Amino acid sequence: MSNEESETILELNLLDNGVDFILKGIDELFDEAHVLREYSSATDITISSYKYGVLHLFSGFLLLLKERLSRHLPELIFKGRVNEVKQKISSGKTPNTIDLDEALERLEIGPKVIFSKDELEVIRTVQDIRNQFEHYKFSTNRYGLWTNISKFLELIDRFLVNELQINIEASSESLELQKKIHTIDSIWKRIEQTRRQEWNQDIQFRLKKFKRKRKDIIKEIEKEYRTNKGIDFPFTICPDCYQETLIILGEFEGICSNSECNSVNPLTECGRCGGVMTGFSWNFSFCDSCSEWMNEQ
Ligand SMILES: [Zn+2]
Ligand SMILES: [Zn+2]
Repeated sequence: MSNEESETILELNLLDNGVDFILKGIDELFDEAHVLREYSSATDITISSYKYGVLHLFSGFLLLLKERLSRHLPELIFKGRVNEVKQKISSGKTPNTIDLDEALERLEIGPKVIFSKDELEVIRTVQDIRNQFEHYKFSTNRYGLWTNISKFLELIDRFLVNELQINIEASSESLELQKKIHTIDSIWKRIEQTRRQEWNQDIQFRLKKFKRKRKDIIKEIEKEYRTNKGIDFPFTICPDCYQETLIILGEFEGICSNSECNSVNPLTECGRCGGVMTGFSWNFSFCDSCSEWMNEQ
């Protein structure tokens, strides 16, 4: 049998299916109200949502484990020894695929993907919950359920990023679902961290450029302000040196032009008055005067 033939047979689309199941699980667990509240608590989720959420997440997770194995060696996802599997496939049969225990064992031996003791405990607990949902009447405390599912979601996200180089939030075309994903704590923390790092890299690059031509750049900014007839003042108060030197317009926005300060800050808009203030755009917040005003009400 040629290589090409064997690849056709082994192409099971594990990754697409796995991600699909994970997305479906998330969709089941979190409803539209969850997106509005931006958080979930154990009792917000119905037992039926828990059930379908867990079933999908678990199936998806197993597929993702197999995807990782097949990247190492495609035959590893089938029961039996590699030689036997190859033989079966070449004679036109499709061997059975491995179960969770076999997948975990082979991941350790092959691509050396080793889950920690705590992670294995989460996987086993969720497996147990899934089996209960599938086979008998279910009675459990929702808080325990929620804790375990949160940990499981965190573990799946980590596995996707580290082992399969996938960001789950970029895998969904549905905007609604993307919003749901952003409200999952552990995933959101990772996204935010990446965004901060990106911002930091970008601003450090601009700061270097700014420092090299500081005087020219400031002159240019002031000139532009005059030609605009004083509309759009290009500076605001810097939270680090308290001078009105923080650039808020153009290429160097976020950089304090005070040569003794040169601090950098992300810029966003106040959620009430729309004025420029420091902070990341994804954190909804109010400027000092609006906060003061609201406190007085
Ligand atoms: Zn400053
Ligand atoms: Zn404001």
